[in-house]
Amino acid sequence: MNEFDLIQGYFNWKLNDASIELGVGDDAAIFNLDPGHQLIMSTDTLVEGIHFFKDASPIDIAYKSLAVNLSDIAAMGGVAKCYTLSLTLPKLDKDWLEQFSTSLKESSERFRVNLIGGDTTRGPLNITISMMGSIEINSAIKRSGASAGDDIYVTGSLGAAALCLKKINEGVKPSESELISLNKPIPRLELGSALRNIASSCIDISDGLEQDLSHILKSSNVGAIIYSDKLPLDNSVSNYVKDSNDWSLPLCGGDDYELCFTAGKSKRKKIKELSEGLKVRVTRIGVINNQKELEIVGYNGPKSSYQHF
Ligand code: ADP
Ligand code: MG
Repeated sequence: MNEFDLIQGYFNWKLNDASIELGVGDDAAIFNLDPGHQLIMSTDTLVEGIHFFKDASPIDIAYKSLAVNLSDIAAMGGVAKCYTLSLTLPKLDKDWLEQFSTSLKESSERFRVNLIGGDTTRGPLNITISMMGSIEINSAIKRSGASAGDDIYVTGSLGAAALCLKKINEGVKPSESELISLNKPIPRLELGSALRNIASSCIDISDGLEQDLSHILKSSNVGAIIYSDKLPLDNSVSNYVKDSNDWSLPLCGGDDYELCFTAGKSKRKKIKELSEGLKVRVTRIGVINNQKELEIVGYNGPKSSYQHF
């Protein structure tokens, strides 16, 4: 099997989106945007040993590579449409490729996105997905729109993925639900796009709430106060915090892939309705102010969110 057989065999799927004119197989793909819409795009790389363990399942790697990219589109309020896959593989392992490809195809169907191209090379295992979507002109939710008085919200719950990672690193067996938090984050696509014209700013939490909220504050030139006792926690994280009094997992732990967004007080009712309608937990955790810094009530530990360098 050569590189071209590999692409044909594992990554050339039937397209199921009429707006895609040309997918895998030519020098570039073509897709059409609806009138009045902008292209919105984002890229994320997963590297063996950094983003997943050496023996990680190809099923989980494929799902997460897609989910983290979808999460970025969700944070902007966009609708994800199609993506490219740049795959660097140490060797041609048919069993690995079969599992990876099947999982990626199933996840793509679940989130209604199409693979339209990519690149295949040999080297240390590395998966880069570039996700493209569309959004009505001038309606993307940027990091820069928060203003004093806005409420701060987070979706889902925080810290379970970080707790799972901590347990694995300490040789403790994580629970099934903790493993799902780490390996199967759910991109908040529907909520993200419903928040257009409601949220004033938004970010997805990949490196820890403290750091990611700080990006909103810096971009918007504002400060904030949040309350650690208001953070939404699963039972396992809540028990961990009670036992250890260590809030760093939900505040600074990475890999949550929940949305953190801000919105004016007049939007409270609308946000509650969206949360109920879409069945996504949404929790108000604090408020934006003019202080130019992030105050976390109930926490004075180190601010140690994830950094690559
Ligand atoms: P080129 O040399 O012109 O860049 P390639 O030989 O790299 O083309 O790729 C041939 C076709 O296969 C292109 O359409 C490319 O987008 C697609 N492709 C390559 N690798 C992948 C992959 N891992 N997944 C999906 N499509 C791929
Ligand atoms: Mg190429």
